[in-house]
Amino acid sequence: MSTTAPPRLPCFVDGAAVFTERTFEDINPATGAVACLVSEADADVVDRAVAAAKRASRSSWRRLDARRRADILDRIADGIDARRDAFLKAEIEDTGKPIGLASVVDIPRGAANFRAFASQLRAMGDETFTTVTDDGQEALNLVVREPLGVVGVICPWNLPLLLMTWKVAPALAAGNAVVVKPSEETPQTATLLGEVIRDVCIGAGLDTGLYNVIHGFGESSAGALLVAHPDVDAITFTGESRTGSAIMKGAAPGLKRVSFELGGKNPALIFADANVDAAIAGTLRSTFMNTGQVCLCTERIYVARPLFDRFVDGMVAGARQRVLGDPMAQSTTMGPLISSVHRDKVKGYLERGNTDATVLVGGGLAEAPSPQFANGYWVEPTLWTGVDDEHPLVREEIFGPCAVISPFDDEDEVVARANDTQYGLCAAIWTSDLARAHRVSRAVEAGLVWVNTWYLRDLRTPFGGMKRSGMGREGGRWSFDFYGEPKNICMRLNP
Ligand code: NAD
Repeated sequence: MSTTAPPRLPCFVDGAAVFTERTFEDINPATGAVACLVSEADADVVDRAVAAAKRASRSSWRRLDARRRADILDRIADGIDARRDAFLKAEIEDTGKPIGLASVVDIPRGAANFRAFASQLRAMGDETFTTVTDDGQEALNLVVREPLGVVGVICPWNLPLLLMTWKVAPALAAGNAVVVKPSEETPQTATLLGEVIRDVCIGAGLDTGLYNVIHGFGESSAGALLVAHPDVDAITFTGESRTGSAIMKGAAPGLKRVSFELGGKNPALIFADANVDAAIAGTLRSTFMNTGQVCLCTERIYVARPLFDRFVDGMVAGARQRVLGDPMAQSTTMGPLISSVHRDKVKGYLERGNTDATVLVGGGLAEAPSPQFANGYWVEPTLWTGVDDEHPLVREEIFGPCAVISPFDDEDEVVARANDTQYGLCAAIWTSDLARAHRVSRAVEAGLVWVNTWYLRDLRTPFGGMKRSGMGREGGRWSFDFYGEPKNICMRLNP
């Protein structure tokens, strides 16, 4: 019997593939098979990546006219579109997410992020303020944004290309160079993006050190090395809240600027005057999209008591309609969890649910959709009720296809319960009363509030969480606030 060795995935430094002796396995979570062997960056590779980025950050890129920089970002977006099928294959192999999702959300948004920040860059200008002194002299204050230099970008596995480009695009737009540390679970699209950006840089005569990729793990590995590196000027991170704390600690000795998008335990509030069918459809989506592995997913659902039974029936019926299957099949609506470690974490919560809660649907590991996927990490879409607000199912981020549904009796009560959490990323409010929608939106402690919808957003708006869900905001001009250093140049006009 002949077995073919898995392909090897390189790091990407200064426009070139870097293969290392030490590798780790990238597992396809739908099959449990090794998708590729990933080159793990050691301290030397990290040093080379940071050095290339440092050189590029001091190249002509930082002073290029904003419209030309914007054109380059558009070309990168075109490059992603041109290699759409390769990005799609890599992302699906790494995450197991259904093609119906990856082809409309992940890959197109990867390109759209570059176009959005190109547009933002074209629209932004410098500010000026005129100061008149007591003796009638005028001074002109010119406020410009300087790039930070080298930005370390550390990403999670749930929306790999989408979340990485959400940081890389504005960092480059602002004139910086980047070193990316993708998740060890989902390394492929970062390297592919390296090939796209290298081709654009060479075509435009730009420094190839603008974008670099180091593969590896977090603590005591490439992630921690990047955070501590003296030539890295800032760290932008998306991932778990406790990893954010570790990164903050690692960045503290160098007083590095940090931007954090962290975990959540997001509530949906379904009021008695809501359009119930729309609320059920929206909440099914917000609970089960990407197998519940989106930071914005709903894990706590509060339903006005008069609607409770009808809402629960609709949610249970909808959960039963999720189709687990081959990620490459258009009919599949739910993929596996990302890894055996994460599957075991979620399984622990399913077991707690089976003993402590009323299981409305699901509650266990799912049968593989076919023998080919027997070693994948499949779980059942699960809904619980009958646990109090102190229970771990209500308090802890699970990051799986599951949520707790509970009834409420009045507005003040549900707002207090929604806010009774260490997190504050997002909330969804379903009501037909405009005054209530506004009042509750203001009262809910979350960086993003949706009313009668979910996951809809203009990329020019601020994105980010309150409390332990994040620090700072990304999107539109808010990203430029992080990736640039404002400088005031005050010039006296009549010297
Ligand atoms: P994670 O925190 O385990 O890992 C994220 C990244 O950090 C990985 O690349 C990892 O290698 C790296 N890392 C881990 N420890 C590190 C260290 N000490 N120093 C430097 N790097 C380190 O998160 P995950 O499991 O990949 O992603 C899931 C989490 O991400 C969930 O909590 C989810 O809510 C959160 N998330 C938040 C948002 C948001 O926008 N708020 C978006 C997506 C995911």
